Amino acid sequence: MIIKNNLEQILRTIPKGCTLIAVSKTHLAETVLQAYEAGQRIFGENKVQELVAKYEALPKDIQWHLIGHLQSNKVKYIAPFVHLIHSIDSLKLLQEVDKQGSKNGRVIPCLLQVHIAQEETKFGFSPEEIETLLKSPELAELKSIQLVGLMGMASFTKNQQQVRSEFKSLKALFEKLKRQTLPANVRMTELSMGMSGDYQMAIEEGSTMVRVGSAIFGNRNYTTP
Ligand SMILES: *Cc1c(COP(=O)(O)O)cnc(C)c1O
Repeated sequence: MIIKNNLEQILRTIPKGCTLIAVSKTHLAETVLQAYEAGQRIFGENKVQELVAKYEALPKDIQWHLIGHLQSNKVKYIAPFVHLIHSIDSLKLLQEVDKQGSKNGRVIPCLLQVHIAQEETKFGFSPEEIETLLKSPELAELKSIQLVGLMGMASFTKNQQQVRSEFKSLKALFEKLKRQTLPANVRMTELSMGMSGDYQMAIEEGSTMVRVGSAIFGNRNYTTP
């Protein structure tokens, strides 16, 4: 009941055209099923092994998003079914996704992760690197991926001003790229930004996909398997 209420409350605040990704990492399949039974069909996980396990255990009409760091050697496990990979942070990774997409007869939708936070630890391209990548002949060759937009994570800080300015900078990059001539396998339509603590602000700043975990499922307990 709590999960259903949380979902309904969040969905009321999300405008049409913005997608809610329910981030179910660390939560049991039974818990995810409660959200499913409340009508939610789009879920995000940050680890390949957990994503695959939940894909296997749960109804097949769920759209699974990979939102966490992805290692090239693990792409093969999610390539058959993943709906969107939010966390592309190198050309090498994108090439591997393309290879595995091709093996599975799929075109796999992906977002480029942009480093917008001030923290050093977050993965992602710099805005300059994104522009270089979008012009590279190696990217234009890829037939089994489709880049559909950008993803970013704001700094983990109480400073709302800073978070807002990071979202603004990502939105500005997104709009700038939209105006450019892009390769056939690139289309700037999705901007994935905003988590439980900042999704409302992210929406104000132009997010089209919010990745919300704890506001739906409660706090994560990392000690349970
Ligand atoms: C865990 C996670 C989220 C959701 O975080 P909450 O604060 O629980 O909403 C969103 N995006 C990424 C990349 C995550 O790893």
